[in-house]
Amino acid sequence: FIGFYMAIERTLSIIKPDAVAKNVIGQIVARFEQAGLKVVAARLAQLSRAEAERFYAVHSARPFFKDLVDFMVSGPVFVQVLEGENAIQKNRDLMGATDPKKAEPGTIRADFADSIDANAVHGSDAAETAAVEVAFFFPESQVYSR
Ligand code: ADP
Ligand code: MG
Repeated sequence: FIGFYMAIERTLSIIKPDAVAKNVIGQIVARFEQAGLKVVAARLAQLSRAEAERFYAVHSARPFFKDLVDFMVSGPVFVQVLEGENAIQKNRDLMGATDPKKAEPGTIRADFADSIDANAVHGSDAAETAAVEVAFFFPESQVYSR
């Protein structure tokens, strides 16, 4: 086989409490769908402190960790598994930079985020983290590939 092969990937997306509170779940999901990603699992969830700390454990030594956990438990989040070609990088591109002030115009964070803390969305950053993060929220039996 000669040519480029784009693997079908899964990635975890979280619409964070600020964007849920702004009532823009649908606008954000529409961007994923317009980019060719499929929502193959989704639900609202209220994270406990223990869950938020475990989900973001990689950042536990960072100075912003407590603020990050406080923010992530401040209201419900919308968790989704997105599936498609190059889904992990595609989602990161749609999200834009972590700091919305540095995010490209037209990205989710440029359009919906207020600050580096309240930045609208989470997306897995690599294949290994995507697998762990998808499994954190969804057993395989609740992921509907299509
Ligand atoms: P991303 O969400 O773009 O993958 P990181 O994994 O670096 O970014 O950080 C996780 C989350 O922690 C960010 O989305 C943001 O909410 C928060 N965060 C990161 N860096 C900072 C910072 N310097 N100050 C405050 N919050 C931060
Ligand atoms: Mg990250």
